Amino acid sequence: MGIKVAKFGGSSLANATQFERVRAIVKGDDDIRFVVPSAPGKRNNNDEKITDLLYKLQSLANKDGFNKTYQKIEDRYSEIIKTLNIDLDLAADLEKVKTDILNGADADYAASRGEFLNGIILANYLGYEFIDAAEVICFDENGKLLFEKTNETMAKRLNDCNNAVIPGFYGAQPCGRVKTLSRGGSDVTGALVAGAINAEVYQNWTDVSGFLVADPRIVDNPDVIKYITYKELRELSYMGATVLHEEAIFPVRRAGIPINVKNTNAPLDEGTLIVQTIPDDYESKPITGVAGRKGFTVIAIEKAMMNSEVGFGQRVLDVLARRGVSFEHMPTGIDTLSLVISDVELSGKLDVIINDLNAVCNPDSIEIFKNLALIATVGQGMIRNIGISAKLFGALAKNNVNIRMIDQGSSELNIIVGVEIDDFEVAVCSIYNAFMKDEK
Ligand code: ASP
Repeated sequence: MGIKVAKFGGSSLANATQFERVRAIVKGDDDIRFVVPSAPGKRNNNDEKITDLLYKLQSLANKDGFNKTYQKIEDRYSEIIKTLNIDLDLAADLEKVKTDILNGADADYAASRGEFLNGIILANYLGYEFIDAAEVICFDENGKLLFEKTNETMAKRLNDCNNAVIPGFYGAQPCGRVKTLSRGGSDVTGALVAGAINAEVYQNWTDVSGFLVADPRIVDNPDVIKYITYKELRELSYMGATVLHEEAIFPVRRAGIPINVKNTNAPLDEGTLIVQTIPDDYESKPITGVAGRKGFTVIAIEKAMMNSEVGFGQRVLDVLARRGVSFEHMPTGIDTLSLVISDVELSGKLDVIINDLNAVCNPDSIEIFKNLALIATVGQGMIRNIGISAKLFGALAKNNVNIRMIDQGSSELNIIVGVEIDDFEVAVCSIYNAFMKDEK
């Protein structure tokens, strides 16, 4: 069998009990040769993540509250070591973190120590070699991740290593300065390790049994997605589904390595497999997932004979570009063109944009529709199936949802509808029930 790389998130390593689960998973599968840990996460809703405590510690250097915060961090690690009953003295490492921060170490360095210290503990507990990520994850002088260099350095370093723990979330610049990835970046480290050693699979262990077809805060007990392609995942995460760190996809996708999202607390659950193509023998559903976001505005421009006016679209888009605003969709009719823009992008700029549009396009009218939500129904099964849109629009009509906008990407991978914000939840449930429960 090939090599597996297992990344464990903060909740999977929040306390000694979670470490025991992680050990059982790793020791239960000889193919898991490389392990990437996050820093200890929250043990309950009121708890603090070690990463957050470290950022706080750095901001409190030589101020009130420093010692108290430091103590919390030290206690978390000490408790894990003591409960696991391992032969490891972390005192010198902890002390160094403290003095470095008191001597002016920056926020990246401080935050990275969460993974660094946790990696030392996990390596000791598993009996694996510890490899400091600063050795193998390379950034340039400006703090940009150097993908090719990292790939090469990592591959070389891991080549003659049987088992190792490589802490997530950080690397180093050529000068040796520690640099972190963006928040949640251990996902990226895991993907970089998996890509470098051409792993058979990249396991991403967390506290849920994979991705859900819809948001469980909206749909009761939604199904788990068994297979999802990278492309579908991109569509769903863009529309607000919380999934992996966006940048974690690239290194494994490039190498054609599947990502398996699994649950540390229910390791026998299959989880979700993110793949390049769905296996032929898997009978996929017509839709893979439904996700959406609230907070969009439509600027609807109408002008007779717009279709024959050369450069009209360009003038409209130039206005947005000049104002530094990006748009999400641009549905068009013969004499109409609408711009769907997120409220965050538009903030404070709507009036000037309307003025600009009036000036350069001379339209018959411009109407503004606020309070829109967009919902993407995603599934590569759509490509082969007739009647998907009929089912989708039928379900929305049956539940009295007025559709304000429709857009289907040319990839035929998704159908996006715009609805009133107040209809958002009902719309998501209607679509889910129509496709997943075959509700008529
Ligand atoms: N510990 C870091 C964070 O909280 C990185 C990670 O967990 O992936 O963002």
